Amino acid sequence: MITLALSKGRIFDDALPLLSAAGIRVLDDPDTTRKLILTTNQPEVQVVLVRPTDVPTYVQYGGADLGITGLDTLLEHGMDWGGTGASAAGSTGLYQPLDLQIAKCRISVAVREGFDYAAAVRQGARLSVATKYVGIAREFFASKGVHVDLIKLYGSMELAPLTGLADAIVDLVSTGNTLRANHLVEVEHIMDISARLVVNQAALKLKREPLRRIIDAFDGAKP
Ligand code: AMP
Repeated sequence: MITLALSKGRIFDDALPLLSAAGIRVLDDPDTTRKLILTTNQPEVQVVLVRPTDVPTYVQYGGADLGITGLDTLLEHGMDWGGTGASAAGSTGLYQPLDLQIAKCRISVAVREGFDYAAAVRQGARLSVATKYVGIAREFFASKGVHVDLIKLYGSMELAPLTGLADAIVDLVSTGNTLRANHLVEVEHIMDISARLVVNQAALKLKREPLRRIIDAFDGAKP
């Protein structure tokens, strides 16, 4: 059996054409089913639905043979496990063979309209920054020599500067519509993000043939 870990929403939707290229059709609709293990047209392939931040954990410990998750999630996972951003995948025993070029966005710093971020940085002010991405934010501001107090949030980061919880946020930005709707402006582009395929290293040895077939099909079909 080959087990693929996916999360509902953008990653699942964007992964469907890649799965289709590998001849895999998911037989359950993740939006309506309550099942967490979805069957596919291939009896030897199943999909498990997990939270995006749990994908690296499932693959690392062999709960899934492979998974798809954002680079943002992989980097934070690597940092939780003591690695740095650059070595995240390697330090956790995850093999990261492919940038799938789906679910593309960027991770940025944003502030309330009217907040003079450049002046605050120039003056060496201590900034409070709310984010889900504490590891990425810490490394970014350290590299700039900016002192920050990081506030960990799990969602709705955009609220933090509007309520006075923080001066700035570090969050994913795609079209910029969410920032604009909340009167926030992007002031730093930290890095580009896309979804990555991760594979359990032991599974790659034990199930080499079927996994290679899937990896190669994804590689050939990525946008
Ligand atoms: P947008 O309004 O298009 O800039 O999208 C921003 C919102 O969508 C933020 O709440 C982000 O956290 C979320 N978002 C954008 N791109 C992605 C992505 N590739 N994966 C997950 N969440 C995303």
